Amino acid sequence: MSANHSNEYSFFQGVERNFDKASKFTRFEKGILEQIKACNSVLRMKFPVRIGDTIEVIEAYRVQHSHHKTPCKGGIRFSLDVNQDEVMALAALMTYKCAIVNVPFGGGKGGIKIDGKKYTPFELEKITRRYTSELAKKNFIGPGIDVPAPDYGTGAREMSWIADTYASLNPGELNALACVTGKPVSQGGVRGRTEATGLGVYYGIREACSFAEDMDKLGLSTGLKGKTVVVQGLGNVGYHAAKYFQGGGAVLVGLAEYEGAIYNPEGLDLEAVMAHRKATGSILNFPGASNLESAGKVLELECDILIPAALEAVITGENAPNVKAKIIGEAANGPLTPEADEILNKKGVLVIPDIYLNAGGVTVSYFEWLKNLSHVRYGRLEKRFSENTYAEIVNIIESLTNKRITEMERNIMLKGPDEVDLIYSGLEDTMIGSYQEIREIYKNTEGVEDMRTAAFICAINKVGVAYEELGIFP
Ligand code: GLU
Repeated sequence: MSANHSNEYSFFQGVERNFDKASKFTRFEKGILEQIKACNSVLRMKFPVRIGDTIEVIEAYRVQHSHHKTPCKGGIRFSLDVNQDEVMALAALMTYKCAIVNVPFGGGKGGIKIDGKKYTPFELEKITRRYTSELAKKNFIGPGIDVPAPDYGTGAREMSWIADTYASLNPGELNALACVTGKPVSQGGVRGRTEATGLGVYYGIREACSFAEDMDKLGLSTGLKGKTVVVQGLGNVGYHAAKYFQGGGAVLVGLAEYEGAIYNPEGLDLEAVMAHRKATGSILNFPGASNLESAGKVLELECDILIPAALEAVITGENAPNVKAKIIGEAANGPLTPEADEILNKKGVLVIPDIYLNAGGVTVSYFEWLKNLSHVRYGRLEKRFSENTYAEIVNIIESLTNKRITEMERNIMLKGPDEVDLIYSGLEDTMIGSYQEIREIYKNTEGVEDMRTAAFICAINKVGVAYEELGIFP
């Protein structure tokens, strides 16, 4: 059992439990369900890396949960909590996540059991490159095989090391850059990938808050304006989610990082908090805010929307009864243990599940992978064409009405799409469409009492059909 999970279930068992709860509402035979649920391949490796004067033996994993569609897809995390059970659980979540947002990949995940903060960039580069070589040796990486991405503790820098290592091992492979996503834009990345998960969280919760019927049940009005929000974790996902919530008119009343948490019912200015953290090394003692006695207490604050955006199993059977939020948006993977989930569902909290809510990252990874395979930037072909078409339309309207629009209006109306515009619009459409699909299942399936079960049903249906259509060998 992994270190930081519920008393009853390991992380992977928790995912299996959610699967079992949902699979009862699907039409698939036992064998298909067993195959969907199983982790297909688990690669565990140990390799030596010279760190200073000593040789360190590094433990690492790559798990391919499902091959109903290939390549497999999922991030790589650097954390001391990495273990086989955790990587298996995260890989399984990737399978369901990809299915929900119609991204044609199987689920995968990787992890290196290190504290990234303890190494120099040079040492991290050596570890990352060696890990990539190990994956290549075992045929666990490639544009059509398995495509890693950033996760907890990794980012664009690590992805460019992976791409470069893979490309060196496969000289002349035209699609080599598609072996990993989340790369810097200069190395084949796509604009908008960095903020994609946080922006997806925002789009998802905004959509959830748009249904009057659902908000009535929670005693809330529709829309995000004025809603109080607490964000736990200001890494790439939490920071961007918080930024978009603030921009959308919500009030950030609580923020937490690993050194502690701060609270101000009047609202916290995110950029000012980030600047304060940069200057002092901590979010604590932010002017006008009170410090909370422990970072975990942020989860128990009075608020409308709580966004755990760090690691798994932060809300458990123990602290769930103290949670006061009406909506929980799972920006992290697996932030609620099964015990917490049960308690919160009974309390009537609307839990928007990870396998839907944080799928914005992999959605934009898919767009990046497509860009790499097509070898052309989004918008390159159509931008000017669109601008010319819009100009003609505006000119015709102006001559018909004998009125002229202002220069500023003209600039807005005539703008053709840049890469980032297309990425954001693809992401927004995906998050809205998938929410509506899950909500329909939730509303129309008798006996389904929570959005997580509905999301699992949605995923199982899609993966199940793919397995059926693949055909099972006699
Ligand atoms: N690590 C992210 C996740 O958990 C992104 C995965 C990807 O882009 O492949 O969804």
